[in-house]
Amino acid sequence: MLDRETLEQAAGEALNRPRYAMFWDDRLFTTHGAAFHWAERGDDLMEESNYATALNLIRAQADDGRPDTKISDKQVIDGTSSHWAVGSMRTIYVQVYEDTVMRCRDCDEVAAWAVSRKKHGRRRFLCELHKETWDHETEGYGLHALEPIAYRPAFTPAFIEATELALSLRDYPILDESDYTEREWDLYMEALKQAVEHAQSEYTLVDSCADDDVIAELYYQDDDTTHRQVWCRADDVDWEVVAEEYREARDRYFTERATVVYRWNVLGFNPDQLDLFV
Ligand SMILES: [Zn+2]
Repeated sequence: MLDRETLEQAAGEALNRPRYAMFWDDRLFTTHGAAFHWAERGDDLMEESNYATALNLIRAQADDGRPDTKISDKQVIDGTSSHWAVGSMRTIYVQVYEDTVMRCRDCDEVAAWAVSRKKHGRRRFLCELHKETWDHETEGYGLHALEPIAYRPAFTPAFIEATELALSLRDYPILDESDYTEREWDLYMEALKQAVEHAQSEYTLVDSCADDDVIAELYYQDDDTTHRQVWCRADDVDWEVVAEEYREARDRYFTERATVVYRWNVLGFNPDQLDLFV
């Protein structure tokens, strides 16, 4: 559980509006604070994974116990903005305080104090700034007043979750290890696929599409292909090595096929029984 002080500090940081910036939605930096960023066109897989994981967890927390996404749709904004340095920037904005919190009578900010001048009089809610004004007036006019009570507005569960996630990143850089690994693997397989397609382009005029598919399958299934056992990241994939290994798989395929055709045509075996020989 996070303490009040930590959450208040996080709220201050999340709602701190960047200067000289324009926002397309007036909830941003008023009710909804910025919690996570991801430079979309960058290639930081860890940042991407953390962003997606955080978005899921924060939304789940907002909808906790509900079958629909009514609350998360309202409280969690997955925003995109263009950024001069990184091109496209995704930001998760989270509603910081519950809808029901009291606001300052004089400026509509979230209240920090409840004050009253009479014992059974009406309580008024004020922000930090307007409470100072109220203090001055009370003192200046020599008015009787009750001791002001610090007001503690309730944070949304979504914001508490966002803060917990952000803090956990200080201890460990990945929010969800399996999500990260899965993304890394997908990217690796995509890179490998591209390398194989590149290798196939050399035989476009001689091999049929069906040949291509079978040879690629042979290549992917070949566990003796040492490089595939050492590689695990997209950056590891070396097109020349793949081209070489693809060529070997292709040679095996055509040698085998030639043998089959030879047996069938020359020795007269029934092709249905060929698996006995291959
Ligand atoms: Zn105020």
